[in-house]
Amino acid sequence: MTYKIQPQTGTAFKIKKGQQLKVIDPLGEQVSDMVLFNAEDTREKISSGKTLDFEETIIITKGHFLWSNRSNKMMKILEDTNGRNDFLLAPCSPETFQIMYNNPDYHPSCFENLYTNLRQFEITPDEVPTAFNIFMNVQFAEDGRLTVLPPLSKSGDYIVFEAEMDLIVALTACSAEDSNGGTFKPINYEII
Ligand SMILES: [Zn+2]
Repeated sequence: MTYKIQPQTGTAFKIKKGQQLKVIDPLGEQVSDMVLFNAEDTREKISSGKTLDFEETIIITKGHFLWSNRSNKMMKILEDTNGRNDFLLAPCSPETFQIMYNNPDYHPSCFENLYTNLRQFEITPDEVPTAFNIFMNVQFAEDGRLTVLPPLSKSGDYIVFEAEMDLIVALTACSAEDSNGGTFKPINYEII
């Protein structure tokens, strides 16, 4: 069964150890932010710092693990047809659009879509960590400068994760103009 995340929205659900999660970009050029929590103890969660440290790269793709703040493996990436994901930048939030886009009005954001869907698991906004940004195309220059470019993902590109523990997963279809080539598209996922 394929589930659909509508543009600029999100969802959260549980998966068991050994289950696989397939995240699909149905139309292309669409980012999906993902955060993970240990279903048994939500103080344990996905860690960008631990993952980049243990995997010794900032391009996390097929064959790598996503690690927790307690240095445990949370997921393994089994497939990644696009091969470009970001694990440096925090989820877009209301402040992102005020500070970086100079937009004082309400704007949907991954951060809001993550914490509102995680509320059912008693996870609060301050507990939401840096997300694994699936399909997000952040480029880095030699002097350290970061640039967010449109995703390289094409229609039908996908990534498959295998859970290494029982997990709470939150996923979005990202709401930031610059991260998604200027338009907002859905994200599909399957639990296998
Ligand atoms: Zn976003």
